[in-house]
Amino acid sequence: MQMSESLRKRAMRVESLSQVLVISPTISRNEKDVLITTLKEVEHFYNSDEKRIEFNTSVLHFESEDNFKHHLTRGIQSLIMGVDEKGIPDTHLKGAQGKYSGTYDPYKLIETTREFIGSHDRLLLLTNFEISPHENWRYFLWENYNNASVVSVASMDPMYWRMEDPHRLPTLKHRARVACLNAVGRQIGLNSCENYRCFLFDPVKSVTDLDDMILLGPEHDLVGLTNKRFSTNLEKPEKMDSLVKMSG
Ligand SMILES: [Zn+2]
Repeated sequence: MQMSESLRKRAMRVESLSQVLVISPTISRNEKDVLITTLKEVEHFYNSDEKRIEFNTSVLHFESEDNFKHHLTRGIQSLIMGVDEKGIPDTHLKGAQGKYSGTYDPYKLIETTREFIGSHDRLLLLTNFEISPHENWRYFLWENYNNASVVSVASMDPMYWRMEDPHRLPTLKHRARVACLNAVGRQIGLNSCENYRCFLFDPVKSVTDLDDMILLGPEHDLVGLTNKRFSTNLEKPEKMDSLVKMSG
């Protein structure tokens, strides 16, 4: 039986995408909770008016071999906020170091992550590891490669710039969320735009550009998402922010 054109278009729009939070042992419990919430908010945003994407969200937690062995005896798999978390000995990161001290190669991080999640789906990798920038760049916010995007929050953190920010975690969450919304939007085929207030703005040249990107602009013709933004809860960044639709 032939599907009508509109039905076919609709069916084609549902994509699947794995979101993986890839973290180092240095991350605090609070930061981890905030970043898991960030991924849940990205999922909520794109499916808030209709189901566009089948998300599969998990956490890969790299830790030292000793810690890993210690956890093994207590059971390494845990379920955090309804998200599966898996511990991995950091020896698996050996080949993934970037060319600058303390940085990681984004392409190798993607490959290593794919090995552990065993999926060739579209992939969004959110990480607190700093990724190595291209030549002539001082830092890198995210990179797209081979059906995957890697978003690093390292340089999105006000602490990285030694800035005093009384709302450090909400600031970090906003920036990470915008970068993830941008990367996921591009992965499902949305175009970038020149609207500096829009989640799909490009090119993003600095961390503070992310602070201005607060909604999805009307230029994308996605009626159900147009002018939607998050209402930020500055006191509890670990909780899901609600979505509001701006008028006009
Ligand atoms: Zn836009």
